Amino acid sequence: MLDKIYPIAVIGGGAAGVMAVIRTVLNFDETIFFPGSPKHKKKSRAFWVAKVENIPGHLQYKKGIMEPNTENLKWLSQNHFKEKLHWMKSRGVSKLEKNGQGLFIIEDSKGDSYLAKDVILCTGVMDTQPIINESIDSILPYANVQIVDYCIRCDGHHVINQEVTIIGHGEDAIWISFILHERYSPKSMTILTNGEEINLSEKEKQLCHLYNIKIITQKIIGIKGNATKEKLESYILEDKTEFKTSFSFISLGMIVYNELAVGLGAEVDERGFVKTDSKGLTTVDNLYVAGDLRANTKKQIYTSWDTAVDSADTINSKARRERREELLKNNSRS
Ligand SMILES: Cc1cc2nc3c(=O)[nH]c(=O)nc-3n(C[C@H](O)[C@H](O)[C@H](O)COP(=O)(O)OP(=O)(O)OC[C@H]3O[C@@H](n4cnc5c(N)ncnc54)[C@H](O)[C@@H]3O)c2cc1C
Repeated sequence: MLDKIYPIAVIGGGAAGVMAVIRTVLNFDETIFFPGSPKHKKKSRAFWVAKVENIPGHLQYKKGIMEPNTENLKWLSQNHFKEKLHWMKSRGVSKLEKNGQGLFIIEDSKGDSYLAKDVILCTGVMDTQPIINESIDSILPYANVQIVDYCIRCDGHHVINQEVTIIGHGEDAIWISFILHERYSPKSMTILTNGEEINLSEKEKQLCHLYNIKIITQKIIGIKGNATKEKLESYILEDKTEFKTSFSFISLGMIVYNELAVGLGAEVDERGFVKTDSKGLTTVDNLYVAGDLRANTKKQIYTSWDTAVDSADTINSKARRERREELLKNNSRS
């Protein structure tokens, strides 16, 4: 498949990837699209997002990214844009390199290779899960029904009237507890460090006291509740006592899926997010990054959309400029 050069390749099929595809295809730029293998999808935020309440028009979806994405991709594939879209369903990208002509060589998860001129990389990030009894599995059923959440811009309002626990031990966990208290005054607020040390400044200690925020540093060894009935009851602590809670936020940082960008030598920040200019261009020629993977962005659906549009439109404008210059050059020769 190395006999054809695709003008654009989009890698990743979450919020940013699908918006990038919508924009490139509507711009009438031929695009090859790798949404990810089932393994990639399961490890993506798009897969775990349930109902989206902070964006108009999304309340009816049970899976607020995946369902509208599929609707739009099907629509693009069924009408006169379909010639422009090469949708490599269930395929991810395992290797991304550049050849001597500056083109990207893309190897997919089934071992097939392709050439592309520009790449928009949208592989995203994943929130770190708490380890309870040496596994992340026990928290996931509760995360699935949104009584355990990760993003306060998306779901902070869920804490109203709840007995809230924050699982985390860094500065973010401490400030999340303050913000949630100041916004919603839930019934109670406790930080569970799950066996980790926590360091508080004098100001933070004072605020914990004033806001009645407790800190428990014991390890969590179990969870009680019934996820199918959307009920979280308590965490079982190392000393076998039960700590009552009805709702949790997890604040343990993020795993950044930057391998393909790093492999090409793209610069990343201290947390691993890929550095770009204002249009998403990385330090590697013709490699753009959109969505959560991009440094210095809000990690949200609408910012993923905006960053994807920036990159798609920049590539389109570059290609149109090249064609225009070529036309003018040929015309002046004749
Ligand atoms: C539980 C939860 C709830 C949230 N709720 C909201 C909300 O209500 N509102 C809001 O605005 N934001 C919300 N967010 C944030 C939102 O999910 C992200 O901002 C958004 O999904 C980022 O989009 P993205 O495309 O960058 O990454 P993702 O949506 O995570 O997509 C990444 C994509 O990359 C693919 N991929 C990964 N590796 C490869 C590879 N090697 N090859 C090919 N494909 C690959 C995956 O298959 C996936 O399709 C929530 C996040 C979480 C975790």
